[in-house]
Amino acid sequence: MAYNIRIRRSTALLAALLAGALAACAHPGSPSPGIVIVDRPVPFSQNRVELTRAYIREHYGLEVADIRIVPKIIVLHWTAVATFQGSYNAFIHDTIPGDRANLAAVGALNVGIQFLVDRDGTIYRLMPETWMARHVIGLNYNSIGVENVGGTRGADLTEAQLAANIRLVRYLAGKYPTIHYLIGHHEYRQFEGDPLWLERNTGYRTGKTDPGPAFMTAVRSAVADLHLEGPPPARPAGAATDGGARH
Ligand SMILES: [Zn+2]
Repeated sequence: MAYNIRIRRSTALLAALLAGALAACAHPGSPSPGIVIVDRPVPFSQNRVELTRAYIREHYGLEVADIRIVPKIIVLHWTAVATFQGSYNAFIHDTIPGDRANLAAVGALNVGIQFLVDRDGTIYRLMPETWMARHVIGLNYNSIGVENVGGTRGADLTEAQLAANIRLVRYLAGKYPTIHYLIGHHEYRQFEGDPLWLERNTGYRTGKTDPGPAFMTAVRSAVADLHLEGPPPARPAGAATDGGARH
């Protein structure tokens, strides 16, 4: 009897493990069947949804019923935090921490990201892919973001992260035919003046260096067959300071 119970328990355990493994794999019908995505959702309360709607209203001038987006751009980042947990913790709260006063002053919504890639290349999904996250000024409503753990000075991203970003770009571009652009966060301001740039506050800009041209060149060369575009060409300094407000 005890033996049978053990068998049943181990069978149940195996089934649970298999279910977990299947859940960690790509969505059914994914165009990238080889990709493994681990769901590690951050808390996303109704309060966070409302804060997101308020951000969309305040920054983009849009009154929306929900926070779903139609993705057109993939934006790659690094967290500049050396560990997975330290990076993950930056995204768990609804509101932005007080020590990020420059960001808090222009919106209570915390930063967020759809994907976080660990140093070993493991891809974590932190929230639904097409819910808006705050990760790139001006373009949040049109983009899906990918953060990479690390990127602190002197410690570049790993080969495993590069390979994971390439797989993820292929997965996203295949799943969402509306995606036409692939950019690094450091390139985001080149969209100012483009119809996809929605930010209304002309004084709200941050200087970004992540993930850097070398990483972007490596990703782009590996996915050249997808024909994703980079950002619009850089304009002369000062030429686009108020361009976004007209769109
Ligand atoms: Zn970034």
